[in-house]
Amino acid sequence: MSALGKPLPGHNAVQAFDVQRARQDFPILQRQVYGKPLVFLDSAASSQKPRQVMAAMTRMAETCYANVHRGIHKLSQESTDLFEQARTRVARHLNAAKDDEIVFTRGATEAINLVAQSWGAAHLKAGDEVIVSALEHHANIVPWQLLRQRLGIVLKVAPIDDSGAFLFEEFEKLLSPRTRLVAVTHVSNALGTIVPVEAVIRAAHARGIPVLLDGCQAMPHRRVDVQALGADFYVFAPHKIYGPTGIGVLYGKWERLMEMPPWQGGGEMIASVSFEETTFKEPPHRFEAGTPPILEAVGLAAALDYVEALGHEAVAAHEAGLLAYATERLSAIAGLTIHGTAPDKASIVSFNIEGAHAHDVGTILDRQGVAVRVGHHCAEPLMHRLGVPATVRASFGLYNTLEEVDRLAAAVLKVKELFG
Ligand code: PLP
Repeated sequence: MSALGKPLPGHNAVQAFDVQRARQDFPILQRQVYGKPLVFLDSAASSQKPRQVMAAMTRMAETCYANVHRGIHKLSQESTDLFEQARTRVARHLNAAKDDEIVFTRGATEAINLVAQSWGAAHLKAGDEVIVSALEHHANIVPWQLLRQRLGIVLKVAPIDDSGAFLFEEFEKLLSPRTRLVAVTHVSNALGTIVPVEAVIRAAHARGIPVLLDGCQAMPHRRVDVQALGADFYVFAPHKIYGPTGIGVLYGKWERLMEMPPWQGGGEMIASVSFEETTFKEPPHRFEAGTPPILEAVGLAAALDYVEALGHEAVAAHEAGLLAYATERLSAIAGLTIHGTAPDKASIVSFNIEGAHAHDVGTILDRQGVAVRVGHHCAEPLMHRLGVPATVRASFGLYNTLEEVDRLAAAVLKVKELFG
C-alpha cells in the first residue's frame, strides 16, 4: 500500500527487496541534515558507498597495498594480483569476452576522451560523421567537439520527442555513408530515458558503423551484458554504482582496442623505451599510463560483488516501484511538471514547479533534509530542447524507500506553500 492507501505499481517487487536491511550497509544514511533524517535522492550524481566497499579498500590499504606491476616484492605482487582480479571481476560482470577488454581510467569522462582521442583521431578525418543524441551528458558531447575542432569531423544529433523519448526512426535517417561512429547514452542522466540501444547497435552495425555507449546511468539500474549488446565500446562510472570515485571503466571489443594507438604516454604502457624509439604494450596496459587507481579498482570489485549479491532483478524491481510511486505522487501536485515521461525510464524524476526556480526548490528541499540535484545536469543542449534553464532531479538508488518519496512530496508541497 502507498502512503495514500492505494496499491502501488510494482509494490510486490518493492516488498520482495529488503531495503531496510540494505540501508544498514550505508552508514551515511543515518545522518541528520538540518535536524531532519537525510533523504538522499542524488544517486545519479554519485551514489553512496556501502561498508563492504570501504572495508575492501581499507583491508587492502592495511594489509598489502603497494604500487602494481612494477615491484618484485611480496606486497607489490599481492597488490598486483588484487588489481588484476578487479579487472577480471569487471569483465565477468559485463560478460566481456576477455579480461583484457577492460581498461581502467580515472573516470568515465576520461574513458570517452580516450576513445575520441585515440580511436577517433586515428580513424576519423574531415567530413566524417559522428552521431550523438539530444540526451547526452557533456562528457559525451565535448570530446567529439574537440575532435571536430582538430579534424573537421561533423557532429550529428539524434533527436528526442517532447517526452524525452529517443526517436529511433529519426536516428536511422541520420546514418549515412559518412557516419563513422555512433556515440549515445544508454540512459539519460537528466531525464532517466532508456535509449533503445539494442536497435541502435543493430542499425549501426548493419552499415558497418561502430557504437560507443555511455553506460554511466544504466549500470546502477540494470545488468549489462556487453557481448549480448554487441557494443564496440561501453563506458561507466564506478562511483555511480556504489563504488569509489577516481576510477572509470572503458570496455572495448578486443579488435577495436587493438586498432587504437596510445593516447597518453608514460610508465607502464610501454614495452621498451629508448631515446630513439619506444614500443608499446598491448591493450589494456597500452592505455593505462602511470600509476592506476589501485585501491579504487579493488573498491569497484567489491561494489560489483555487493550489487550482484543483492540481485540485479530485485534492485531493478525495487527501483521501478520507487519510480512509479514518485511519478504518481509528484504528478498529482498542481503546478508541477515532470520532464521526461518516456515509457522506458530508469529511476530518475526531473521536474519543475511553476513560479519557482529550480535552485530555490533545491534549497528549500535541502532545508527539509531532502538532497536533490538542481541545474542543467551537465546536459545543457537537452535543457535547451526542453525549453527550461534547469530542472530539479530526484534520482533513486537501491537504498531509497517509499517513505522517502513521501518526504519528497511533502517537501515539494512546502515549496508550493512558500511560493503561493
Ligand atoms: N555520462 C553520464 C550519462 C553521466 O551521468 C556522467 C556523470 O554524471 C558522466 C558521463 C561523467 O561521469 P564522470 O563525471 O564520473 O566522469
